Amino acid sequence: MEISKMGNLKAPGPLYEMAQHQFLKAAKLMDLDPNIGNFLLWPQKSLTVHFPVVMDDGRVEIFEGYRVQHNTARGPAKGGIRYHPETNLDEVSSLAFWMTWKCAVVNLPYGGGKGGVRVDPSKLSEKELEKLSRRFFSEIQMMVGPTKDIPAPDVNTNAKIMAWYMDTFSMNVGQTTLGVVTGKPLDLGGSEGRPEATGRGVAITASEACNVSGIDISKATVAIQGFGNVGSFSAKILSEEYGAKIVAVSDVSGGLYNPEGFDIDDLIAYRDQNGGIIKGYPKGTPITNEELLTMNVDILVPAALENAITEKIANDVKAKIIVEGANGPTTEEAEKILIEKDILVVPDILANAGGVTVSYFEWVQDLQSHFWEIEDIRRKLTKIMKRSFGEVFATKQKYNTDMRTAAYIVAIGRVAEAVKKRGYFPM
Ligand code: GLU
Repeated sequence: MEISKMGNLKAPGPLYEMAQHQFLKAAKLMDLDPNIGNFLLWPQKSLTVHFPVVMDDGRVEIFEGYRVQHNTARGPAKGGIRYHPETNLDEVSSLAFWMTWKCAVVNLPYGGGKGGVRVDPSKLSEKELEKLSRRFFSEIQMMVGPTKDIPAPDVNTNAKIMAWYMDTFSMNVGQTTLGVVTGKPLDLGGSEGRPEATGRGVAITASEACNVSGIDISKATVAIQGFGNVGSFSAKILSEEYGAKIVAVSDVSGGLYNPEGFDIDDLIAYRDQNGGIIKGYPKGTPITNEELLTMNVDILVPAALENAITEKIANDVKAKIIVEGANGPTTEEAEKILIEKDILVVPDILANAGGVTVSYFEWVQDLQSHFWEIEDIRRKLTKIMKRSFGEVFATKQKYNTDMRTAAYIVAIGRVAEAVKKRGYFPM
């Protein structure tokens, strides 16, 4: 028997199908038991909700939202909630699927989940944003909980929204429940080092990738697509702690180039006073998104959304290393070209796992009501990221494959073992 798409089961969309192809490539190489493979190809639970929000002008607007749990064999589902006008069930299911492998690749006791609301939050007032957040969390309350499914920030969501989620859940169950979401404010059960965690993980894996490629990171040039939480912290840590030179950055408003390297604190301060965008920053020349992605640099960090590196872009990529800060930034066709060009791609499920790793630390601290110091967080995160990179790289060598497939092999191995030992209920 072969692992297959099994009869009339249908992927929620093209992104999910691409994710399934990544999985199938690894499953074949590692000779995965087809019964387990067929189970792991699909999300266990998907919820779509439509809910009303009374807008400031008195109109009632209806919003669509989702929560998907891909697999919970190794523990409660874990994964963020994004607010984006284009999000959909296909995207959220794919992101939940990737969370299962991300948690397993760094060996956290979690399964994978994700959520989303189709909304452009920049068009909402503060009050509308709060009402939308609280109502959405109430709608998905049946799925979440500190031992069931633990949401966190993702694209366009932040600590303030996590505090509203935590309060909403707590009000609904009648007790303060810190462990129901991570990425909360520090004084509300949040963790030291959580805001920087994904960026720090990107920087650590970039440095490990440089080591195995014979590149001196303190002399490396870097281009970063996306200047939100992940992009800006990756830039800051890569430049301040590893000495790399960030020569290009971009966000929704366009890109900037500076061959001398940006002063990242200065750029972050500018962004924060400029409505959250880098457009107009005087110490750089404007460039396009395509120019940034195809720039002659050592390291390229796509840290925005899915499908950034397409086939067309891949043909022109000159970076030696790509570290995927975003989830799913490389298309299937682009991936083939990057492999042929022998570019080392540190895949999303490894490269950006620092965020969920410190989310795990936050959850453990909440459950124990005992909080750790920043040094402990950074030390433990560094250890996990380095160990995971090493395991994935060794697997790449062993199977003579690419880093993404190797990361899947490590992750699938762990989840498959859990499924096998738990058995199928009822037997
Ligand atoms: N949204 C982040 C991710 O894609 C973090 C998830 C979490 O901390 O649970 O990995």
